[in-house]
Amino acid sequence: MSKSENTLPFIPFTRPHFDQETIDAVAEVLRSGWVTSGPKLAEFEADLSEYFGGRPVRCFANGTATMKIALQVAGIGPGDEVITTPISWVATSNVILSVGATPVFVDIDPVTRNIDLNKVVSAITPKTRAIMPVYLAGLPVNMDQLYALAKEYQLRVIEDAAQAFGSQWKGQKIGSIGDLVSFSFQANKNLSTVEGGCLVLNNIDEAKLAEKFRLQGLTRSGMDGMDVDVLGGKDNLTDVNAVIGLHQLKRLPAFQMRRTALARQYFDAIRTAMTTTGLNDLRLELPVENFTDSNWHMFQVVLPLDQLNTDRAQVMTELKDLGIGTGVHYPSITGFTLYQKLGYKADDTPIAQRIGRSILTLPLFPGMADEDIGRIASALTGILKKHSKN
Ligand SMILES: *Cc1c(COP(=O)(O)O)cnc(C)c1O
Repeated sequence: MSKSENTLPFIPFTRPHFDQETIDAVAEVLRSGWVTSGPKLAEFEADLSEYFGGRPVRCFANGTATMKIALQVAGIGPGDEVITTPISWVATSNVILSVGATPVFVDIDPVTRNIDLNKVVSAITPKTRAIMPVYLAGLPVNMDQLYALAKEYQLRVIEDAAQAFGSQWKGQKIGSIGDLVSFSFQANKNLSTVEGGCLVLNNIDEAKLAEKFRLQGLTRSGMDGMDVDVLGGKDNLTDVNAVIGLHQLKRLPAFQMRRTALARQYFDAIRTAMTTTGLNDLRLELPVENFTDSNWHMFQVVLPLDQLNTDRAQVMTELKDLGIGTGVHYPSITGFTLYQKLGYKADDTPIAQRIGRSILTLPLFPGMADEDIGRIASALTGILKKHSKN
């Protein structure tokens, strides 16, 4: 490709946004003399607790530590089974393994791309202690069905809501309802502290336990008292990160409106481009058109690979050549070498296997321009047309 063809700016699949006020606030923390967990963390946790309707909230160094500590708070360990989805960031099942428990993978619903709750019951055994659903791209599962299952089978629920900050269920914020709810503030997430995470808990006893797990199992008393009665790690969130979170939380409603508006435009632009390109027989799968519950963390399509004479990698390469970044979220966890060695079979969750091979994340972040959507839609459909078997 000649240089002149490539003059449009590159659109990454996502990009965090930190405004000048946030940058100034970080500088202030750095100058204050107190940079690790302190007053800004306390303020951020209080604001988050208010956001989640008064439930206790504790922050951690990242979403992975948050989920691991959620499992520890629930007392899940060796001999226990945790039901989860194979289509997630591998952190979800890695933390189950890291506390010594066993992940049990249930196949996904091809429409929502989340765990198929109708298939959960047949995976429950006497060892099952918890369900760990993931809200892929910010779309929650059916929360009524999830908690009815948990109640009937006396299971804990550890919600991997890493991607679902700002998502809702029947008008209630994800995190303001439910059992243990874990969020990530990693750079790509809708609310970012660069790295970080938070856990919404049920009561102060759980919050105190979570505090111990995040700092060496330590409890302080009086002026000089110190004791350690459980094994904890070093998973605290710093004030530098917390102050970023405080500012991002204020921007969240604006971010959310922009993401939703862009998602709406995607549906129109892709459908129009498919029709004008004569591709109506191509089974390109779009996300669930949900503008009330989803926080539109990502906009993902599933490529009709059986109708194309190419693969996903080539589609991604051609989009990249046109200045469009994409991502893969995610291949099925059961296909990874570690999980294969542990005896998991990718064939046992065939829908996850198919979608894991063909899902593609298109750019979506609040800083995108309206024109970007049309450009991406026509680039994608042009590539599909070129590689269509029909
Ligand atoms: C981001 C993410 C995590 C992990 O969060 P980190 O902050 O990166 O540790 C876990 N699960 C899902 C689904 C995620 O998207």
